[in-house]
Parts: sequence; C-alpha cells; structure tokens
Amino acid sequence: MLSSNIETFIGCDKPYNKAKHVLFGAPFDSTTSYRPGARFASKTMRAESYGIETYSPYQNKDLEDTKVFDAGDLELCIGDTKMALDQIEAFVAGLIKDNKRPIMLGGEHLVTLPAISALSKRYDDLHVIHFDAHADLRDDYLGAKLSHATVMHRAWDLLGDNRIYQYGIRSGDKSEFLWGKGHVYTQKFGFDGLEDTITRLKDKPIYLTLDLDVLDPSVFPGTGTPEAGGVSFNELLNAIMQLSNANIVGFDMVELSPPYDPSGISTATACKLLREMLLSFSI
Ligand code: MN
Ligand code: MN
Repeated sequence: MLSSNIETFIGCDKPYNKAKHVLFGAPFDSTTSYRPGARFASKTMRAESYGIETYSPYQNKDLEDTKVFDAGDLELCIGDTKMALDQIEAFVAGLIKDNKRPIMLGGEHLVTLPAISALSKRYDDLHVIHFDAHADLRDDYLGAKLSHATVMHRAWDLLGDNRIYQYGIRSGDKSEFLWGKGHVYTQKFGFDGLEDTITRLKDKPIYLTLDLDVLDPSVFPGTGTPEAGGVSFNELLNAIMQLSNANIVGFDMVELSPPYDPSGISTATACKLLREMLLSFSI
C-alpha cells in the first residue's frame, strides 16, 4: 500500500494517535537581530536527517523505538510577531490537551516563549533550563519587548524568580547580567553545576531550550549570531545525556540558520543533537 509523501525527521514517523511526543517546526525569524535565515532550519533538518543513523552508539538506543509524530511546519505569519506567537501557543496548547509532549524546531529563539507560556498553564511549577551563548535577558531590544534578545526576560515575566537556569552564557549587556543576578541562575561559559540543578529540580517539570549558538562557532558556524568561546559537541552531548534523569515536559532547538551553513556541517550537527535529545528524553 502506498503511504503519503510526507517527509519527516528520520525515525519520527509514528501515527499521531500512537505518539507520545510531537515534533513540529516553527519557521519564524522576524526579530533576528543580526543575520536572518533560521526560518529554514526545520525543513532543512528533515531533509538532511537521512544522512544520520537512527541508532545512537552513545546511548545504545534507536529512534525506531521512540513514539514521535512529526507534524511538519506550522504556517506562521512572518511579519506579525504577536500573531505568529499566538499561533505557536495555540498549537502547543492543543498538544498538551491531547497529552502529547511538544518538541519544537525553530526558528529563532523567540518561538520558545509561546511554548513556555502554554506549558506554564499546564504546570504551575514549570522550570526552564536554557543553553545559549547569549543571556537573552534584555527587557527590550531597540524598544521591542518581543525579540530573540528578550525571550528569557519574557519567560521570567510568566514564571517569576528562581525558575530559569542558564548555561554556557558568554554574551550580553552588562545590565542583563546585573538584572539576572536577582532573578535567574546564570552559569557562564559552560555546564558547571548542571548536575546539582538536576538534583535540586528532581521531579519538577522542566522545559529545555537549546539555542545552538551555545556551541563554539568552530563546531557550529551556521547561526545568526555566532559567539566565540563556546562549548564543544561532546560537552553539550554530555549535558543532554545528564538531563535524561530530569522530568523534561517539552523541549526545543533553535537558531540553526541554513543560509550560513554552506558546508552542511551545522545542519548535520543539529540533526545528530536532535537524535540524542529525542533518545534521551523520549525513551
Ligand atoms: Mn538565544
Ligand atoms: Mn544565542
């Protein structure tokens, strides 16, 4: 029997009613401050995912054994930020209602906000673990409250103090770091202390947001705002595998920008990381 010609991320082809996890793309990059292009990430990753294996020698697990439905990309209104964010939130709320865990591919980092908003309505003690080169804690960016540079401040508006744990941060305005001290936990440069945080948040619902520019640009050049001095692939992979012990209720991967990835290395790296995240949090 023929099946429909729909391209999914490799191994994410279970039917919706049997799936526990739903992967979807949020192809939005309207507020990118430097080099746009992240809107093309989810489509590019699906196509390139067939270059990797479904089996992970790191975790001895296989994507074929996961229950992930790939819903494709949302059709978002590029140019009307509020409308696009509302569309994402409505979609995530629908998944939560159906008892599915959301897994989102950006897009730029602002797409994380509506996912956190929807999940915070389901879990009133939601916590966020945030891997990024950038603090993303500005109150506004050139006057705009909704920007990929303000996304974690907007998340704090929803969640309040001591709910956001940032790792790998090596860039931001001085005022962001000062403000952050009283409101969020920030680990500069790497993942020191992550294990303690996982222990402290044991059983708390956690949303993990991975801004891929936490990686060093020598590993991951294909992104809108590259920032030297980042973590290695293995350091990030270890952090992801440590989080397999945490109660991850949703996660995302943002800021891959295929137009800045002519070699395809960054896309291949993102695909491999997504495989490891799916295996770490979905089996
Ligand atoms: Mn970010
Ligand atoms: Mn960043």
